[in-house]
Amino acid sequence: MDQCVFCDIVAGKIPATILYQDDRAIAFKDIHPQAPTHALVIPREHVPSVAELRGKHQYLAAHLIFVAHEVAKREGLAAVEKGYRVVINYGREGGQEVPHVHLHVMGGRPLNGIMG
Ligand code: 5GP
Ligand code: ZN
Repeated sequence: MDQCVFCDIVAGKIPATILYQDDRAIAFKDIHPQAPTHALVIPREHVPSVAELRGKHQYLAAHLIFVAHEVAKREGLAAVEKGYRVVINYGREGGQEVPHVHLHVMGGRPLNGIMG
């Protein structure tokens, strides 16, 4: 895949602060955090957006949610008294800017309103 910043992070070509990784997924700190914890969870496979997720990706898609909670645990947000938010952006109005599907995991402060 040419010119995909998240594929470059997967390949180790550009640096990122890795919070979790396994054979299918990787999580790292967002470069412009919107909350004290702001991580991105991505599949190693280049899937451009949720629109390209297929039946063959069903376990991968579920795994990304599992990884989001694992990241939240590692960040001390997994207790119900703490908590966090998971967001997937899609399309122009949804605000997706990087065309490699990703989950935002945000927390560490009260999140109010649509995006806090
Ligand atoms: P989107 O708007 O596509 O849902 O979110 C993309 C996110 O990726 C943004 O929050 C942005 O700050 C983050 N981001 C973009 N480029 C980089 C990068 O090179 N490294 C890291 N760690 N985050 C990035
Ligand atoms: Zn990619």
